[in-house]
Amino acid sequence: MLLICLAVLGLTGSSLSAAIPPPDATGSRNKLLLVSFDGFRWDYDQDVDTPNLDKMAWDGVRAEYVTPPFLTITSPAHFTLLTGRYVENHGVIHNMWFNTSTQEKKQYYQTQFVDSYWDNGSLPIWITAQRQGLKAGSLHFPGTAATYRGETVGVSQVEPFLYDHSNETDWRLNIDKVIGEWFHQQDLDFVSLYFGEPDVIGHKFGPDSPERREMVQQVDRTVGYIRDKIQEHGLTDRLNIIITADHGMTTVLRGGTFEEITLSKIPGFSFKDVKFHLVDYGPAGMLLPKEGMLEKVYQALKGSHPHLHVYKKEEMPARLHYGNHPRLLPIILFADPGYVINGFFPVQFHKGEHGFDNQVMDMKPFFRVVGPDFKTNLVFRSFETVNVYPLMCHLLGINPEVNDGHLDNTKDMMVPNKKNKLNALSQVVVGLSAVTVFLALVFIMTTSYAGCKRNRVERSFNMEHAAGYIGEEKTDIKQSSF
Ligand SMILES: [Zn+2]
Repeated sequence: MLLICLAVLGLTGSSLSAAIPPPDATGSRNKLLLVSFDGFRWDYDQDVDTPNLDKMAWDGVRAEYVTPPFLTITSPAHFTLLTGRYVENHGVIHNMWFNTSTQEKKQYYQTQFVDSYWDNGSLPIWITAQRQGLKAGSLHFPGTAATYRGETVGVSQVEPFLYDHSNETDWRLNIDKVIGEWFHQQDLDFVSLYFGEPDVIGHKFGPDSPERREMVQQVDRTVGYIRDKIQEHGLTDRLNIIITADHGMTTVLRGGTFEEITLSKIPGFSFKDVKFHLVDYGPAGMLLPKEGMLEKVYQALKGSHPHLHVYKKEEMPARLHYGNHPRLLPIILFADPGYVINGFFPVQFHKGEHGFDNQVMDMKPFFRVVGPDFKTNLVFRSFETVNVYPLMCHLLGINPEVNDGHLDNTKDMMVPNKKNKLNALSQVVVGLSAVTVFLALVFIMTTSYAGCKRNRVERSFNMEHAAGYIGEEKTDIKQSSF
């Protein structure tokens, strides 16, 4: 009996599954715009009037805050948004490219063009989407300029060297391009769009400055402009928007009894024992001691300053996910909030900084979504930004690459999924059809010996189909839960 049931399921399943569109072809997939405002801390809207962000929260979902990966700086954190991987897993470990043999270093902008730095095992969502038949674009987003396994994002714009990241007129031109040309005219499915503020202003004047509050109002006007343009092009019901950031910002401490962290002043430590160093870059740094000098350098630095944390790479706290990549140097340093790490003497004069432990509240970015697949007027619990990638893949109906996030952490912010409903309905139809055909076969078998003999021949044929169908069913379930 069981064999007959399987055979029947195989027969009906094969014929019906051909009529059920795969998840990507149901016509229910909406477009997706991912926007990052660099350095927009989770609470930046709390001391400024932000009518457009408030309206977006009313029309969609606002997370209390999100937790970025460590190291909380621009390129590593943005590549986590694009891949869903922690920094030690995606390998973009710093804003700077460096070579410990030649002592060569490349700053943030030049590093954008070093393909091998970005293309080292984790595919950004643009490439995955394109491989699955979608059209993707990216404007100014970190990682846009690189080639991944021979592929680049299909439509892109990379900022020129010395670009003014705060010009609101340029922001609007960029938005016109993304919404009017890329989404509307060229029918792209996914675009990532990057703005360099309020990071620059936060560094220069500090997160509590009037200049930062003014820039948050510019961001707010921009959010309104994005939504107006989407409306103007008739895309409101077909386009989801995710707005977030890479990290937050905190005030750098100075003056009074404050004691700077300057490595050259630490007793027992000497740069002569170090082959390569990456310091003078905010609150985090890395050292490659010369051969045989690891223990000496480590012991000199460990416990040398009450606000300096010193780890051998393999001893880094597992929760930071920043100890297990070949590019990480043997000694990793990071400072408590308010402190930066200087090498020979203080050379850093920013009033605001980031790069601290990702558990520090000032390092947490904001996160807002609105669109046809999201609930309205919902305040959502915080989550890690590794979870943004599986959410985006789900919204786009594409199979994700291996990643460190999970859809369970964000799925409750979405309205019930049409694709899931369709799959559930199809299973009910298959089940009812199976029962009907099974009863018909039982009737035939009990009324005709010849019919029963023919049915035995069919059974082995249908078993092959049954196995195929069960496999397909599992695939469907997997696809609807990523
Ligand atoms: Zn940044």
